[in-house]
Amino acid sequence: MLYRIDANDALVHVDGAFHRFAAAAGVPDLADRWYGRSLWQCFGDDELRALFVALVGRARGGRTLRVTTRCDSPSLARLVAMDIAPVGQDEVEFRCRLGAARLMTPALPSSSELLRLCAWCYRADRGGWRDIEEVVAGERLLERTTIPIVTHGICDACLAETAAALDRAVA
Ligand SMILES: [Zn+2]
Repeated sequence: MLYRIDANDALVHVDGAFHRFAAAAGVPDLADRWYGRSLWQCFGDDELRALFVALVGRARGGRTLRVTTRCDSPSLARLVAMDIAPVGQDEVEFRCRLGAARLMTPALPSSSELLRLCAWCYRADRGGWRDIEEVVAGERLLERTTIPIVTHGICDACLAETAAALDRAVA
């Protein structure tokens, strides 16, 4: 494994493979910076954090997700293939492999694009509700220099389920 987070507070645990990965990625002190912290504090960016909350939420639901994300050093843009997998009772494991590197290109203009997620099931509104991992892969969301602004709503299926649950509670 590379790093692992537990369910409630999402504390980060890392192993030797993570140290080698971090050194290869040009951030040898990454483990020291992350270890024992909440994963959610490791993201400087709210949109990125919201996307990972959704991905980890999906993995906790029992499925292994495969996404490609950027892991840049100051001079190189690198792609990282990342599996986010449920393990044991309540933990989620991240397995990462460094991919192709290229020299940095100038940052793209900030995105004004919106990405609406269902706060219940984490699906994304893309003219129909689609699984978040499908949208991340299809739109290469984590490979871009800017990602859409994440907003939260409720999808039709979760709304219907919530309404039905309320009806049952009232009846
Ligand atoms: Zn939903």
